[in-house]
Amino acid sequence: MSFTVTIEPSGHRMTVEDNETLLEAALRQNIGLPYGCRSGLCGSCMCHLESGQIHYPEGPSEILEGEDPSSILSCQALAQSDLVIRADELEWAQDIEVRILPCKVHSLERIAHDVVRLQLKLPEGQRLQFQAGQYLDVILSDGRKRAFSIANAPHDDEYIELHVRHVDGGQFTDFVFSEMQPKAILRIEAPLGRFTLRDQSDRPMIFVAGGTGFAPIKGIIEHALHVGDSRPLQFYWGVRAQRDLYMAELAQSWQEKHSHIRFIPVLSEPDADWSGRTGWVHEAVQADNPDLSGFDVYMAGPPPMINAAKAGFEAAGLDLARLYSDSFEYGAAADKT
Ligand SMILES: Cc1cc2nc3c(=O)[nH]c(=O)nc-3n(C[C@H](O)[C@H](O)[C@H](O)COP(=O)(O)OP(=O)(O)OC[C@H]3O[C@@H](n4cnc5c(N)ncnc54)[C@H](O)[C@@H]3O)c2cc1C
Repeated sequence: MSFTVTIEPSGHRMTVEDNETLLEAALRQNIGLPYGCRSGLCGSCMCHLESGQIHYPEGPSEILEGEDPSSILSCQALAQSDLVIRADELEWAQDIEVRILPCKVHSLERIAHDVVRLQLKLPEGQRLQFQAGQYLDVILSDGRKRAFSIANAPHDDEYIELHVRHVDGGQFTDFVFSEMQPKAILRIEAPLGRFTLRDQSDRPMIFVAGGTGFAPIKGIIEHALHVGDSRPLQFYWGVRAQRDLYMAELAQSWQEKHSHIRFIPVLSEPDADWSGRTGWVHEAVQADNPDLSGFDVYMAGPPPMINAAKAGFEAAGLDLARLYSDSFEYGAAADKT
């Protein structure tokens, strides 16, 4: 059985299923309820029950002791009737508090010749609230920062997933590829950036990734699928050769399972046995979509790709206000942002 939850003061409505917490329902329906640990310990998700009945399968958390009797924890509460709750909804990624947190490397896996997939775990009882597509800064011991996009979606947040490409001679990525072991401790600052899904639009979407620009786009597409976004979605992934398509089976499975998704890998230095698209990824986008005026476009990856694509897409009629991008700047350029 499902119930309807009305959130005041916005008047937003969501359905909540049996055995689904109010927070899980909000994440599924892209409603920005605040949260922290997702285990009833921190109180960040506290909101107020105006009418209706809830219950806590694990019993009420101690953190509610001494609070106003209307206070409830959305990460623990299950609905037993239709509800009206009062909560401070987050409208934008910027509304989420940026925190500096320690985290432990849970796993590191070489998924391509020059890409490692890291899974990071926050301390017991803590979760990172973020919007799909945002990034974090790893804070090095000398205080310098290195930006990496979060590759998972918020509903699937037991670990924070990063796709780290090796930069020859790079202070941090050399360490990741040569010395880092599971259980290493990192300090991160997160969440950052505004590269997130604009869900108020009904235009078809084009996603363009260059290399590890796949990371934030993976997070956004997984989020879009979780919240049931069914806008037509073309995903172009530009890399040099087949060995760089490090999670191609996953992208392929989106296309196979969802009729509104197309996946188009594009190789700039194609292997002899490659029969797919070749050339520059933004040129493939334009060849397939000569008129971009009706689209929302999302791009992530190296600055040269972003700059070339911006110029080409504008010439093809794209309104640049509907172009959302994360340029993987580094060094001095990144320090300025
Ligand atoms: C918002 C944002 C998100 C990002 N997300 C990702 C991501 O998900 N995955 C990912 O792999 N990278 C990502 N990057 C790029 C990443 O931050 C850099 O590659 C990283 O900081 C390199 O750190 P390093 O300490 O190894 O290199 P450094 O010690 O900083 O640099 C060593 C040398 O390599 C050059 N260099 C550094 N980075 C690059 C690069 N990317 N390409 C070419 N030359 C470089 C430097 O100018 C310097 O000469 C992102 C960048 C930004 C701004």
